Amino acid sequence: MWTVIATWRMALEGIEKASAMLDQNIDGGEALEAAVKEVEDNPYYKSVGYGGLPNEQGVVELDAGFMNGSTLGVGAVCGVHRIANPIAVARSLSEYETNSILVSEGAEAYAKEHGFQQKDLLTERAEILYENRMKETGKTVLKPYNGHDTVGVCVLDIKGHIDAGTSTSGLFMKKPGRIGDSPIVGSGFYADSAAGAATATGLGEDLMRGCLSYEIVRRMKQGMAVQEACDSALNDLETELIQQRGHCGDLSVVALAKDGSFGAATNIKDFSFTVSQSGKQPIVYVANRADKHTFYEPASQQWMDDYMHERMKPVSRL
Ligand code: ASP
Repeated sequence: MWTVIATWRMALEGIEKASAMLDQNIDGGEALEAAVKEVEDNPYYKSVGYGGLPNEQGVVELDAGFMNGSTLGVGAVCGVHRIANPIAVARSLSEYETNSILVSEGAEAYAKEHGFQQKDLLTERAEILYENRMKETGKTVLKPYNGHDTVGVCVLDIKGHIDAGTSTSGLFMKKPGRIGDSPIVGSGFYADSAAGAATATGLGEDLMRGCLSYEIVRRMKQGMAVQEACDSALNDLETELIQQRGHCGDLSVVALAKDGSFGAATNIKDFSFTVSQSGKQPIVYVANRADKHTFYEPASQQWMDDYMHERMKPVSRL
């Protein structure tokens, strides 16, 4: 039996692709890469890959990470500008003993040297959204703001091998060079075939304060069920941040356990995630929290239609 789980509705088409591969007994890492690439290539998903929203200087800057839960190999790229599929580069880097996390020019050079596709990542649509944002806020009060959704995927393949990976353009209007949790192992993603995997989305600065993905896998390793690990780790981090700092940003996670069960937790409204398991159709769920527990149900057709409508609606310059 195999399971794949991913953050957000936007992963659906990629998860369908990965499901077909997992059915054919293709390696989980390869299936994960195919799923994430599908999101990276979609110009309407404005927080990942091609079509991602730019930093405050109008440059699209991408981060991605990958972990192989059987070798504990980790690869990541941070702040890259011209790589079409950062997840593929991150996965390739995860095979190295050293030099497996590369930033900016070093990552670009590695990608070029190893034949990874180069691409101009700024779409006209993203450029319009950027220019409009500049006009709305005035150039002096730029703040990273919502419009950020990282795709994070965890896969358990039929051999029992577990992987996790992420890809993101990070916060819209971030400072050049800023990275969040997504390419940081343990924060944005973590996989251990002996226990399970987790991946996060939300405000990277806060997710990193609790190394949230690692913490979830650690709790599973100590015997906690996956849903309880997600809820308790996220709630504990939120409580601590509010106690220590007076506030906490958006936090959402998905995870799977080595037995194929899955879980999710969130402190936002209507966090969507996508799950597929052998013998079943992929399902998009919408999650909400009540009394410190996350509840989820399959997204309605209306919800699914609204989601795509919102992402594909025409944009024009202000
Ligand atoms: N966690 C990402 C970051 O901070 C953004 C997101 O997941 O929405 O860069």
